[in-house]
Amino acid sequence: MGRALFGELARMVAALAEVQELRSFALPYPSIAQRALDRTVMHCLDVGETPPRSLPELWEWCRTRPAGDPLFAVPASLVTPDTTLVHPVGRMPTRSCLEVASHAPDGGAAANARALLDDLEARCATGERYRQCRRFLANHPVVHQRDRFGPGWSKAVWSRVKDLYGPLPESLLVDDVFLRCPSCGLPALSRNGAVPVPGPSATDADIWCEGEECPRDDPLELIREPDQAWILRRSLRMFLALPHRTEEAARDALDRAGIDHEALPGPLSAYRLKDAGPGIVDMQVYDRLQPALLAAHLADSAPFADRTLVVVPASLAGRDGYREAFTDALPALPRARLVLTTPVDLVPDLGRPPERGEG
Ligand SMILES: [Zn+2]
Repeated sequence: MGRALFGELARMVAALAEVQELRSFALPYPSIAQRALDRTVMHCLDVGETPPRSLPELWEWCRTRPAGDPLFAVPASLVTPDTTLVHPVGRMPTRSCLEVASHAPDGGAAANARALLDDLEARCATGERYRQCRRFLANHPVVHQRDRFGPGWSKAVWSRVKDLYGPLPESLLVDDVFLRCPSCGLPALSRNGAVPVPGPSATDADIWCEGEECPRDDPLELIREPDQAWILRRSLRMFLALPHRTEEAARDALDRAGIDHEALPGPLSAYRLKDAGPGIVDMQVYDRLQPALLAAHLADSAPFADRTLVVVPASLAGRDGYREAFTDALPALPRARLVLTTPVDLVPDLGRPPERGEG
């Protein structure tokens, strides 16, 4: 029960982050929030806990009570136990929250990103035009008025993609300044709500960026005149822009090895590799924090090529337990056809048989 509630709260957090400024939880609550609050109250009564009295209190629970909390008791084999749905510093949905919310019949934010790209593709008359637009979105999670006079700006591309952008929400502004992480290019905030001073005083723990995993070697970028900037939809920031660096690195590795590849319809970043067999060999690129949910997503999206290389950032693949959790969560058939790898290991792994795991 707790596990189902965690999933429901993830969908609530993701939905509320889309429809309103997170600081204003006025009555009457949106129906998805009222339902989640009611379910939480019921669950608390069942397990003998004091229930939350309001939506702000429930939101605070989502910020402080992780997946492994006895209230939820989500198995560690499904979601890493320290995962919260709302980020403790950023107070926004965590990446894991969107991944959990996407692990639902409607596919959540990940499916939304795919649907938006499908629409875009339908509007672009040619494949080349679509690829241009997709590349623009991946490289420009935030666009400022002055970018329109910079190099590489295409009026035609912008006119096709601009409806996928919206104004910067007030919850992402600090003293009328928008902060951007120089590493992932996504929104950032500081713990104390002030514009952070670069240098040793700003520690990792004080700064949140939507990528969550970025190094803090360089100061955050400050974008003034935020009313002249637009931000890409959250689902595309997370599931297109964030994995884009990994996708580019993987494709560069293929190019260097002389392996041709062409984009496949369907999954967000999927390619068929030419002459890399025996059999049909595909590559799919992801940047997901939760390996078991990634495995579940892949297991659901059959049919498979004879072999699919699943490329994730090296920083994730090298994390304690990531590979094991991924492999353990796969049923036998996809497990025999999937190889988890990184951009650097991609080409060497082409010659390696799939991991068979225990069973
Ligand atoms: Zn970042």
